[in-house]
Amino acid sequence: MTKRARPAPAARTGRAREPAQATPAPVHYDVRAASLHGHRFAVQITIDRPAAVQRVSLPAWIPGSYLIREFARHLQPLQATQGRTACACVQIDKASWDIECDPRRPLVLRYEVYAFDNSVRTAWLDAERGFFNGTSLLLRVHGHERQPHELTVHPVRQRRDWQLATAMAPVAVDAQGFGRYRAADYDELVDHPVEMGTLWSGTFTAAGVPHRFVVAGAPAAFDGERLLRDTQKICETAIRFWHGARRPPHDRYLFMLNVVHEGYGGLEHRASTALICGRADLPRHDAPADAARVGDGYVTLLGLISHEYFHTWNVKRLRPAEFERYDYQSENYTRLLWFFEGFTSYYDDLLLRRAGLLDDAGYLKLLTKTANQVLQAPGRQVQSVAQASFDAWLRYYRPDENTPNSTVSYYTKGALVALCFDLTLRHETEHTLDDAMRALWRRCRGGPMTEGDFAAVMAELGGRSFAREIADWVHGTAELPLKAQLESQGVKVLEEPSQLAQTLGLRVAENGGITLKVVLDGGPAAEAGMAAGDEWLGCNCPLPGRRAAPRTPPAGA
Ligand SMILES: [Zn+2]
Repeated sequence: MTKRARPAPAARTGRAREPAQATPAPVHYDVRAASLHGHRFAVQITIDRPAAVQRVSLPAWIPGSYLIREFARHLQPLQATQGRTACACVQIDKASWDIECDPRRPLVLRYEVYAFDNSVRTAWLDAERGFFNGTSLLLRVHGHERQPHELTVHPVRQRRDWQLATAMAPVAVDAQGFGRYRAADYDELVDHPVEMGTLWSGTFTAAGVPHRFVVAGAPAAFDGERLLRDTQKICETAIRFWHGARRPPHDRYLFMLNVVHEGYGGLEHRASTALICGRADLPRHDAPADAARVGDGYVTLLGLISHEYFHTWNVKRLRPAEFERYDYQSENYTRLLWFFEGFTSYYDDLLLRRAGLLDDAGYLKLLTKTANQVLQAPGRQVQSVAQASFDAWLRYYRPDENTPNSTVSYYTKGALVALCFDLTLRHETEHTLDDAMRALWRRCRGGPMTEGDFAAVMAELGGRSFAREIADWVHGTAELPLKAQLESQGVKVLEEPSQLAQTLGLRVAENGGITLKVVLDGGPAAEAGMAAGDEWLGCNCPLPGRRAAPRTPPAGA
């Protein structure tokens, strides 16, 4: 059921989704907008029963985005007091402090955080909008992590029309969503990002679960009803995928979409997701009649919504054993991102097809794009998806001109690995990869899992060991049997000639001239001695399938 754009009552009023908690939490955070134009949040933490030497630290990374980001570099000087007594704060590393205090009295910490990164991973504050992840703003109080935490976000004095949206459980909030929220522990506290601003808001239910969608920066012509309707179909399809007619593990869900001029990205959380998209990707009321069909940009947005929502199960609950408890201060290595990101990427588009938001041709077009992305990068021949998963901290989030030669994407190749496992099961048995995902969910009770768990459910459903496929497809670099697998299912695979740049083993930028962005290993351009960064002025030799250009100076200037 879809309602007119209006915030969910439970999320906007004191009629909290959970009963008000009479007992204050042992750790309480107060967050205020200290300066809109200076992009600074002010944070105050009250610790009821501190340790005699109380250690606090700010996370170095945010779960779901596997890169050390050093959030503490945006923290302004930390001050600590007990009553009127100042306490000594001794910094012990780049993100941690020890505070000497009297353990019998509440300890109060104050600091500011500079918030000017318009991404889903960090924090932002200006005159238009506020957003933060707890990992950017809220110090972890060592020894208290597993106790309840409360967060009070104060209304912004200069922006009385702002609303606040978060999936955290409200305790006492005003009609616009500002007020006191509560989390069972620190992990939950920082897994509920907070969005503030003049928000478009709409609600729907999926399998009886209330869902809310808020949009910051929506243009006047934004067709929110269509976005709600389509998102509802995605959510219902995903819930049915995992649980059939039963209820999912979450009792509420919030989509937070930040609309910018150009952009794309999302980050998953246990009961919400933060998304960014370009304005042109939104559905519009004023779209011409012939644009009623779904445009590519909107399909990309729906795919992002589908992807992040699928993560509600696949990585937020069913997750690598290494993520059973996060270490927020350093890298948390896993070799399983090919499963958690790759299989999620496989299902994000597939669930759009099952939800009726794509036809077969539209789905195969997206699959072709994924296959081309993998096949056009020589890095697939030197790195496995298991190794790429482990190296995410080093490589995936730091792409450069050598990335296509040295790495493979655990998203795209991981999605093709999922396709191959799915088609193998479909070819040999009565089962599908859907059954394997649900069997894993049951086997691991929606919690930590290992590669051994995946191998076990595949063997069980397939009636044989899949050790060879896991070795070749996951830990090896041999080509995937895509063509044979697809043709065994009646999908004809046509191979078209590559574009000129790909034929030459190049990726280029054309703006007036041609600049080489990437030279692919093993290609003609690499053999000719071209290098990334070269500006190509011309060519004095025949190009494959082309006539030689007249009067051309030597290449690779
Ligand atoms: Zn993902």
